Amino acid sequence: MRRVLVTGCEQEISSFNPLASQYADFTILRGPDVFKAHAGADSCIHGFLDVLGRRPDLELVPAYAASACSAGPLSADGFDRIRHELLEAVRENAQDLSAVYVSLHGAMGALNEADPEGALLEGVRGIVGPDVPIVISLDLHGVVTARMLRNCDAAAVFHTYPHNDFTGTGRRAARLLARILDDGARPVMARIFMPALVRGPELFTATGLYGRIIDRAKAMEESGEALSAAVLIGNPFTDAPELGSQALVVTDGDEEGARKLADELAAMFWRHHEAMVAELDEPDAAIADAMARPGPLTFTDAADAPSSGASGDSNSILAKLVAAGYAGEALIPIVDAPAAGQAHQAGPGARLTLAIGGTIDPARFPPITIEVEVERLGDGEFIYEVSGMPAHAGPTAVLRHRNIRIVVLSRAVFLMDRAVFLAHGLDPKEAHITVVKSPGAVWRYFTFTRKNYVPDIPGATSANLKRLGHTICPRPMFPLDPDVRFEPRVEVFARWKGAAA
Ligand SMILES: [Zn+2]
Repeated sequence: MRRVLVTGCEQEISSFNPLASQYADFTILRGPDVFKAHAGADSCIHGFLDVLGRRPDLELVPAYAASACSAGPLSADGFDRIRHELLEAVRENAQDLSAVYVSLHGAMGALNEADPEGALLEGVRGIVGPDVPIVISLDLHGVVTARMLRNCDAAAVFHTYPHNDFTGTGRRAARLLARILDDGARPVMARIFMPALVRGPELFTATGLYGRIIDRAKAMEESGEALSAAVLIGNPFTDAPELGSQALVVTDGDEEGARKLADELAAMFWRHHEAMVAELDEPDAAIADAMARPGPLTFTDAADAPSSGASGDSNSILAKLVAAGYAGEALIPIVDAPAAGQAHQAGPGARLTLAIGGTIDPARFPPITIEVEVERLGDGEFIYEVSGMPAHAGPTAVLRHRNIRIVVLSRAVFLMDRAVFLAHGLDPKEAHITVVKSPGAVWRYFTFTRKNYVPDIPGATSANLKRLGHTICPRPMFPLDPDVRFEPRVEVFARWKGAAA
């Protein structure tokens, strides 16, 4: 019986969110709970179990899995504790291992470690030794590092955005590992770094240019040319030393082939990278245009998307509507724990003068003081439309200013569907304007919108990447700098050959 250890650690952060995330923000699973929790989930670990869990010749050993919602960088304490716990769990199960699978996102960042996934993989490698294959899975928003690639044998990467291949990627990781275990495949990984951070609708893999590049990567896998092929675009909000876009191809023992295929993907990507930018609306013109139109209308506030790691406390659109004298019906979610607390204290029907917004990021979102009526209170427990999973937003309230209804939440939760509104008795279909704090949610859950605006406003996840203030990623970088040149340079990682070539 060959033993395969399963572990994971997943979070995506925005370095520009001033609120650090903590150990307590993570869901920690240990031992058999890892498999129990993932059995019914749409996740990479589920997909991995799906392929290898029923094989009579393999024993899958659940060790430890930590995952958290997107947020600000992880505190030093938080990362140290998770690293310690994960490595202890690996150490306890390390005897007679034939392989290790690590489910990662790839865009973590900690205040004391710029490359948490690299540190974790280095730790796992240190425990299991040089001869046990380690296969990982990654989000295409992952920031792959040389340290990660030196300490694993092969990687499977998402092929869809918006992501709908969590389970599928886990299955591909399992088949990749099976090729190593069963057929003696000897993975060679070739990566090419590309100095570009991309955004915008061309990234939708079903319809956009990025999807056509991924189609080629998929064809490489399907034809058997590659064991795995991907183009990662990094998370532009995770300011890290190896942030950028990367072509990553894994072949079986064929270094020349891996180089050529990575080169092909990188060339395709670079040819199109300038088209992969977000088109943003001038905010005051967008408000004026919306005020003159019938609804329902949507404002995509991608700059303050908690699902991308933002703080959620932006009041930018609220402030502009108030300043413009807007009298229509608008719905706006804002993370504001003090306002929610005051509303709960005052009770339904109370009239209050409150400072709204900017409780976490006041530099980007100066609080605005307005008169509101407490219309409704909530406990912040509701079910996401997007995943069927529970949200825990803490105490919430609906505050009405004129006809603007502000849903204040005590904690940032995903705002990538209608759940936050419906849970508070508010229907975006009946409002004139709804603010949606997610880059892609409008096209899935707000299809009734008669016009969607994407204003260029501040936020820790602004698609106007120049606004963010990167200080760590390699420069020059498209689109942060002008005239960025790209000279493909292939790095090869093949553990069975010894050190990186
Ligand atoms: Zn992603």
